[in-house]
Amino acid sequence: FERMGRLKSFEMPTVVKHGIGVIKDAGQEVKNLGVAKVLLVTDPGVRKMGLADPVINSLKEANVAVVIFDQVEPNPSIHIVAKGTEMYLQNKCDGLVAVGGGSSMDTAKAIGVEVVHGEPVLNYECAEGKKPLAKRIPPLTTIPTTAGTGSEVTQWAVITDPYRKFKFNVGGPLIAAHLTIIDPELHISMPPRITAATGIDALSHAIECYTCHYAQPMTDAVALLAMEYIAKYLRRAYSNGKDIEARYGMAKAAMLAGLSYGSESAGAAHAMAQTLGGIIPVAHGECVAAMLGPVMEYNWMGEPEKFARIAQALGVNIHGLALEEAAKAAVREVYRLVKDVQIPTLEQQGVPADMIPQLAEEAFKDPQTVGNPRDINVKGYEWI
Ligand code: NAD
Repeated sequence: FERMGRLKSFEMPTVVKHGIGVIKDAGQEVKNLGVAKVLLVTDPGVRKMGLADPVINSLKEANVAVVIFDQVEPNPSIHIVAKGTEMYLQNKCDGLVAVGGGSSMDTAKAIGVEVVHGEPVLNYECAEGKKPLAKRIPPLTTIPTTAGTGSEVTQWAVITDPYRKFKFNVGGPLIAAHLTIIDPELHISMPPRITAATGIDALSHAIECYTCHYAQPMTDAVALLAMEYIAKYLRRAYSNGKDIEARYGMAKAAMLAGLSYGSESAGAAHAMAQTLGGIIPVAHGECVAAMLGPVMEYNWMGEPEKFARIAQALGVNIHGLALEEAAKAAVREVYRLVKDVQIPTLEQQGVPADMIPQLAEEAFKDPQTVGNPRDINVKGYEWI
């Protein structure tokens, strides 16, 4: 009852435009936001593959000037953000376009925070003693090239502070993109390993947000649909990257799962992945994906009805099963999917077993622990 008395809100500041081949319209769409010169934020891999080229061409055709910042790295740090901010200010840009995965989109959001506040993004970490965001970032268009983080529509940016070896969050409606353009043709080049990791990351958003204490009707609705899409399309996108229908399905799933974040957060799998990503350079999606099954095995008894509903969304026939069995079926189904798309274990990702006590301690302190559907302490994290 205490939780039910808590004020919940759902806000969605981002206009979503999507379709196969729609990237050709990006320039005009950005221009319609009233922007004359953008900083295009991307990473070297995405740039090398030519994924930013159609965006750059379309911007030029619409007479929008483009300055390219292509130095984003995975788990982007405060230093990368500062470099981007400098480039934005030096070139007198008046808008941002992010082309890439969560790392590029989060970097662009954080650059936006620094530009309008005139201060390092670290001052706006979601933490006690830090300031809330005061100003809207400049017009930002997100163009995702992975189907995973949902950062194209979320109200979060995740940035690494290398001094504390800590990934911190900056959040709220003021940081959300103004516009996202989702074109699955930009996802075709993803190799199976990235398709799998980012796809299970999206699934983990949907499952953790659907079952966490912040869940509410709007986020429940989009989370369940995201699960259905992922059950239908992830294996297909993984085994045939050119399957455009599956790519489109996964792109929509990632966006919907991003919306299920609402203005809140996820649970234990994200608390651990974010903690780990600050300590060693693991790929976020792979890390979450390796932990989703064990987290669900721990959590199902906290929300058995909802776990039974997850089983259904994933395509399991739960007719005639007792509640406990139906809830456990969701856990089994996720393990099956994770196995089919060959997610490496944490050990295979280079995480040593003797790091578990440190990881458990740190994850317990992560703000996302509070939302976990079953109470959890350091021992619980060690068990997972
Ligand atoms: P990423 O952006 O780090 O990219 C991973 C790799 O994929 C890069 O090497 C990139 O070059 C490559 N890549 C991207 N698109 C490709 C394509 N189409 N073809 C081939 N290669 C491609 O990965 P990500 O998983 O999208 O983002 C992870 C980051 O997002 C983490 O820092 C995580 O903490 C953060 N995150 C943010 C939110 C949010 O709401 N803001 C939510 C979850 C995670």
